[in-house]
Amino acid sequence: MNKHDLDALAARLLHHRDATLQPGDSVVPGIWPTAVFHLPGNPSNAPYQYGRFHNPTWEALEAALGVLEGAETIVFPSGMAAIAAVLFANVRAGDRVLLPSDGYYTTRMLAEHFLKPLGALFETRPTARLLDGGVQGFRFVMAETPSNPGLDVCDIAAIAAAAKAAGATFAVDNTTMTALGQRPLDLGADLMVSADTKAVNGHSDTLMGHVATRDGAAMARLREWRKYSGAIPGPFEAWLVHRGLETLEVRFARMCATAAVIAERLQGHENVLAVRYPGLKNDPSHDIARRQMAAFGSMITLTLRDEAAAERFITGCPLIQPSTSFGGVRTCAERRARWGDAVAPGFVRLSVGIEPAEVLWTAIDEALRASS
Ligand SMILES: *Cc1c(COP(=O)(O)O)cnc(C)c1O
Repeated sequence: MNKHDLDALAARLLHHRDATLQPGDSVVPGIWPTAVFHLPGNPSNAPYQYGRFHNPTWEALEAALGVLEGAETIVFPSGMAAIAAVLFANVRAGDRVLLPSDGYYTTRMLAEHFLKPLGALFETRPTARLLDGGVQGFRFVMAETPSNPGLDVCDIAAIAAAAKAAGATFAVDNTTMTALGQRPLDLGADLMVSADTKAVNGHSDTLMGHVATRDGAAMARLREWRKYSGAIPGPFEAWLVHRGLETLEVRFARMCATAAVIAERLQGHENVLAVRYPGLKNDPSHDIARRQMAAFGSMITLTLRDEAAAERFITGCPLIQPSTSFGGVRTCAERRARWGDAVAPGFVRLSVGIEPAEVLWTAIDEALRASS
């Protein structure tokens, strides 16, 4: 999708409900905190029956996310609940599953601790080499690009074509980019999953996730999974994410623009050993990123000399909030080795927020100088 079409989509996202409103209706969708609905007689006569089956607040959010994705969507109470739905609705005993070895850690843990004991066989490969060896014989393939936290990328269209030829279902975790930065379904993926806890909500005040697909049967199965597993969002949280979503375009544009400026300057900084950002011309991810992404994201990784320097940088910068997660309005950072990621002790994941760029850069530069 080109810039003009993405802009048109962002505008439509803000106005898609207008035509459905009656005089006197609230312009902002309401919150429906209810477990039960008035249900006399035949349940099929009522549009709503029970709070685990449906809720108007989720539906309002799903409709808005549907505009964003250009596909039907279903919301879950966290990113992992969405990923669990995608895995458990698609994988059976004996199936071979391919996951990235360098993607979101919890996805692998879920597969290891719960899919494997049910008889699924799962293998991992690094994101940048996900297609090495092909995908013949796999039933399910998942990619995460750019990967979190290494920021390697893989070619979504190429994997989609290989998966299709192999008869495998292909899902992309699009959390790091959102549909404004990268559109996996347009590139041929069967399923797109997002942790809306990150940029989509953007305010670090709730967890949420969603799945988007253009495959009606796959969506029906996900709806069934949610209804039977009970992995349902709270109405208030769904409403918060809906509100966050309305400013996604301006937040994400600012964050990506600032991240590009900061990555460029970090690359030339005397106290920084290495920088990864897909928007840097010399980054190993750049060529594919330029082809398949509309933006280069808000996440940068930088490597400082050692653990102590990295900790001094993170805690010493007044405009960096030391915390995990990314995609929020406040710039935040953490040393990923503290979670056991296979990275250097001085490796820092920096999530750029919406602070004005020059003020943020000055604070980062000063903290870097003071860190070594
Ligand atoms: C955070 C994250 C998740 C999980 O989201 P939760 O809302 O924390 O469950 C999944 N995938 C990626 C890439 C993430 O960054």
